[in-house]
Amino acid sequence: MSDQIEEIQCLIIGSGPAGYTAAIYASRADLKPVMYTGMQMGGQLTTTTEVDNFPGYPEGIDGPTMMEQLKQQAERFGTEVRFGLATKVEFAKEAGGTHKVWVDETKEIHAKTVIISTGATAKYLGLESETKFMGHGVSACAVCDGFFYKGQEVVIVGAGDTAAEEATYLSKLCPKVTMLIRRDEMRASKAMQHRVLNTPNIEVLWNTETVEVLGDKTVTGIKVRNRNTQEEKVVPAEGFFVAIGHKPNTDIFANQLDMDDTGYLITQPDSTSTNIPGVFATGDAQDKIFRQAVTAAGTGCMGALEAERYLAEFE
Ligand code: NDP
Repeated sequence: MSDQIEEIQCLIIGSGPAGYTAAIYASRADLKPVMYTGMQMGGQLTTTTEVDNFPGYPEGIDGPTMMEQLKQQAERFGTEVRFGLATKVEFAKEAGGTHKVWVDETKEIHAKTVIISTGATAKYLGLESETKFMGHGVSACAVCDGFFYKGQEVVIVGAGDTAAEEATYLSKLCPKVTMLIRRDEMRASKAMQHRVLNTPNIEVLWNTETVEVLGDKTVTGIKVRNRNTQEEKVVPAEGFFVAIGHKPNTDIFANQLDMDDTGYLITQPDSTSTNIPGVFATGDAQDKIFRQAVTAAGTGCMGALEAERYLAEFE
């Protein structure tokens, strides 16, 4: 047992739009929430430049500023925001029980309710040149960043539903979209494949892998290699979109919470309730379809309202 046990009503794990929205609602409901931010305070949006699709910002806002404002809003109502990583959990199975969460492997929190908003992490190819242009020509979200490449040529890598959906989205903004697919077939649903293959300004390069993102200050092209012939060429492009999947940050909940085979937490319909009473899952940790800041915020609100109702039952 840790010698640093703290008993609270509501613990929020993670500090993206879902976590901060849960914090705003939970603190306004006087649940005195404590939030542990995780290692990347502010979540995925802190790695983007401009956010243009979050309602309420007519001129757009940069991701880090938006997250700082959400933090301040949560703190204004009394949320205690702490930097730290939840490293282990032991959830009570019975309703009304106490959930135990360890932070940084030392501090032990006993909470009546836990709102999980640990998010997901976009997978990248792992190329040095990809990292160099991250947020400045390289993006893992076409819906978020595609608009900045309006009228320009772009390349997208991936062959699942996300890549297919994003390629189609980009084809409406960009004169040419080149899709790099590493095998000779796509994993995406037949309907999505059909849409991609019938869009005139999407060119699919089969059996093709990315060698390097080229450019000096901005991206100018993508060097690609055909995996069958080993032939290399450069595809001119100003934007490079990576759509090879996400990994939900849910490893610490394995064996305690129901999740699908890729680790997305399973919630009940129209609810953020997990299989454990008093534990709620919000944001990208439970959403593999929409993954938008505003949808994450919406589920954060739901999580806090459900936590409040749950606590009221045991008062
Ligand atoms: P997926 O895991 O389904 O697909 C990832 C794709 O990226 C695969 O085609 C894979 O290729 C490719 N890939 C992985 N690593 C690399 C690499 N290093 N280089 C090149 N290509 C790579 O992820 P998605 O995000 O597309 O979808 C996740 C889940 O969400 C799926 O279940 C999907 O159906 C669902 N979804 C549903 C939507 C909807 O219903 N509207 C929209 C978006 C997602 P390979 O095939 O060769 O392994």
